[in-house]
Amino acid sequence: MKKSLLLATITALLLTGCGKDQDVLVVGTNAAFPPFEYMGGANGDEVKGLDIDIAKAIAADAGKTLKVENLKFDSLIVALNSGKIDFIASGMTITDERQKSVNFSTPYYEATQVVIVNQDSQVFNTPADLAGKKIAVQLGSTGDIMAKELKAEVVAFNTGFEAFMELKNHKVDLVLFDSQPAATYLAKNPTLKQLDIDFSPEFYGIAVAKNQPELLSQINATLVRLQSSGEYQQLLEKYQK
Ligand code: GLN
Repeated sequence: MKKSLLLATITALLLTGCGKDQDVLVVGTNAAFPPFEYMGGANGDEVKGLDIDIAKAIAADAGKTLKVENLKFDSLIVALNSGKIDFIASGMTITDERQKSVNFSTPYYEATQVVIVNQDSQVFNTPADLAGKKIAVQLGSTGDIMAKELKAEVVAFNTGFEAFMELKNHKVDLVLFDSQPAATYLAKNPTLKQLDIDFSPEFYGIAVAKNQPELLSQINATLVRLQSSGEYQQLLEKYQK
């Protein structure tokens, strides 16, 4: 009797992938990157944003319920590869380095890095002008990688908000951050401004573990569906106000 119960339990665990709910898709994100992901809702405890709406569509197309895990940006890839989350939707730029450890969907958003300074700051005109400057970035972001390449003095924070706080306190010369979240922050902070420096474009993708090719094709199919139905355009308009 006991033996068969044990066997049944083991079989059940194997069938459900060691306790993971098959009806749930878990998206990992870092909810400090508006309008892509941020804390909102009536009590401020709900993760919202463009990436979350895309993730909901992915789960709905797969016939599953979406669960959102709010994690540190630089721990997302580790969480994905350990199976804690099923995919990453976090304004994550497709880079060669990241492609060594994860697969990315087709690109869904074009962005660029921008330079934000205090209104009273000196003006920088080219990326080369930033060498030797003190730059605040988000840890593990493309801004972080780029600032290091610029031979600047880099101070990395878990969120862009903290990087901007450091700038407002005049502890750094500038913040290097993604264009749209920077614009969102700038709109609420009139003591800051954006400088006109050209950086190359970056493209956001949804990241999936290398051993989940089916999920990757499902995600790409959802992206195509959202784009061709016009829903994606509506989402962009909703979040890029
Ligand atoms: N796009 C940047 C990157 O991939 C920043 C993303 C983020 O901070 N959420 O590194």
